[in-house]
Amino acid sequence: MPARELRAARRSLRAVVLAVLLPLPALAPAPALAQAPGAAPPAPASPLLKVVDPAFVDTTVKACTDFFGYANGAWLAHDTIPAAYSSSGVMRDMGDANELVVRSVLDDAVAQRAAQPEGSTPRKLGTFYASCMDSAAIEAVGFDPIRPWLAGIDSIRTRARLVPEIAALQVRGADVAFGYSPSPDLHDAGRYMAWLFQGGLGLPDRDYYTDAGPSADSTRRQYVEHITRMFTLAGETAAGAAQDARLVMALETELAKASLTRVALRDPSATDHAMSVASLAALARAVSWPRYFRAIGVTVPVARVNVAEPKFMRRVSALLQTASLAQWRAYLRYHVLSQAAPWLSSPFVQEDFAFNSRFTGAKQLLPRWKRCLRETDGDLGEALGQAYVAKTFPPEARARAKAVIDDIRAAFAERLRHLSWMSDTTRARALDKLARMGEKVGYPDHWRDYSRLVAAEGPFVLNVARANAFEWQRVANRPGSPVDTTEWGITVPTVNAYYDGTKNEMVFPAGALVPQTFDPKADDGANYGSLGGSWAGHELTHGFDDEGRHFDAAGNLRDWWTPADSTHFTEQAERVVRQFDGYIQVDTFHVNGKLTEGENIADFGGVLTGYDALERALARDGRPGPIDGYTPEQRFFLGYAQSYRVNNRLERLRTRVKVDPHSPERWRVNGPLSNTPAFAQAFGCRPGDPMVRSQDSIPHIW
Ligand SMILES: [Zn+2]
Repeated sequence: MPARELRAARRSLRAVVLAVLLPLPALAPAPALAQAPGAAPPAPASPLLKVVDPAFVDTTVKACTDFFGYANGAWLAHDTIPAAYSSSGVMRDMGDANELVVRSVLDDAVAQRAAQPEGSTPRKLGTFYASCMDSAAIEAVGFDPIRPWLAGIDSIRTRARLVPEIAALQVRGADVAFGYSPSPDLHDAGRYMAWLFQGGLGLPDRDYYTDAGPSADSTRRQYVEHITRMFTLAGETAAGAAQDARLVMALETELAKASLTRVALRDPSATDHAMSVASLAALARAVSWPRYFRAIGVTVPVARVNVAEPKFMRRVSALLQTASLAQWRAYLRYHVLSQAAPWLSSPFVQEDFAFNSRFTGAKQLLPRWKRCLRETDGDLGEALGQAYVAKTFPPEARARAKAVIDDIRAAFAERLRHLSWMSDTTRARALDKLARMGEKVGYPDHWRDYSRLVAAEGPFVLNVARANAFEWQRVANRPGSPVDTTEWGITVPTVNAYYDGTKNEMVFPAGALVPQTFDPKADDGANYGSLGGSWAGHELTHGFDDEGRHFDAAGNLRDWWTPADSTHFTEQAERVVRQFDGYIQVDTFHVNGKLTEGENIADFGGVLTGYDALERALARDGRPGPIDGYTPEQRFFLGYAQSYRVNNRLERLRTRVKVDPHSPERWRVNGPLSNTPAFAQAFGCRPGDPMVRSQDSIPHIW
């Protein structure tokens, strides 16, 4: 999981409670395409992915011993992770297919851009991508395009200049000092309010700064060396660069120590601190807040602010007053360089990759077109989404996917009605929350308006900064206005899905609704295991996991549980935590049961609900005979397990144990299935088999 992708994810998915299905943006391999930009679009490759592929099954592994190994072992045995990737498997395969389609859209946009009207969105799309692909121009100018930004930082000679400069950098997309984002009011979820967040770190997690031990020491040492090299590339002397790098590390360490851990952030009440601007001023005195809001382009009145992490903001304020200006200048300079590096000349790109790949294990850079495509999708995704949908997602596929999701909703409602542990009071509220849960399938009904985005011929790094500024201006003045319920948090070609607690909705983009996740022509067993269980049932259950359950039907943070039901839930969820704490993630590191609690609950709920939905569908539509020798129920569990067909590099697993709320794929399969009696029944497993956990340790939640 590259730090860069994590930072991008933070920027685009900063909703308060937003649980994504998969840990990473799709990592796709480079297909062998001899396709010049501007030529006719390539036909999308046919990856021939199946929802259930019997060729992946390793029959030498016993299903009742290790179902992940059984379902995926034959594939794993022959898989080699390509050099530019940190993992391979289903996400990479699906992402690969999607990226070929997106590339054909972008190549068309490049070829036709001169013929498009000035200022039109198709012209901007072509101009944006073409400026990224123009590597000769990028090499020729080195870091010249960002010299004015560095000069701006160097001109900070008084403390009064510090916050305005931080504000200007934030608008261009830099994650410095702290974050600002309008997000739904936790207690009036239909309205946005201003939020301030912790942020400003260069390493993927606060723990990298505070962990003890030789491995952590080595990471920190290499980080300082990396910062030094970046400064040297930007023209500092070796001695000056080394000195400045130590200053950056020291400041970031102070920010890290004041930051909440990812586990602490899972509790929504931990970030619920709405206050008046006067109280904010008392908390963080170093900032003139009205002036700050003006500097970031906020023109609406801001009366109240949710300070997600007050301790952090207090510390930032103190550092703004006490850390030397030289230290702040070095810190801001590094963050500007680090953010721009992927889009500067090769020495910067290589240095950025050399350091950040230690968190992924990737051995070489992705091809340029893939890097450019992903950035373009991130910044102008809804400008290419329509063309993507036209090429990949016929109305029948949308209708069929919606039908599976409808069955999942009905199956979960049925489970709620029959939960023996739940009081009727809580049950009625849970059913209401489910009934009012929104869903978005395929693509937005309203596409984003890019008329105010500027894309110009010339250095790509400036187009990225303009796109960041466009995005900032698009949302900055939201405080006080109604929440945009039509907005999507991820783009249409993305291989992922999410549940948003403050909107109480689940979202499935078209990019995820293709084989291997889902095939309208596949059998119910396969589709209900994969789309039904591991996608729709999973996202739905997020509305009722340890985090989502604190939000009501309207998305407000409100306790709608009776005390007894709350106690039961917490006790049973603790079983999930203990179960996953017991699994090894990588080396001698165990899975962090607390960090992964919500995802593991969602996985388990997804399996149970998907299975119920399959049984309902079979009863309604008739039961087919075995396919490839498997019953519908066996294909359900294979569909579920093969949807987690992933081969990870060790470096990626080591990073994920710290930063990823998802367990490794092996445990996302074996964990919930070993709690599921229907699984044991389908494969004839017996008590005592590793895939059959004892009744008194199985969690009874959903
Ligand atoms: Zn999830």
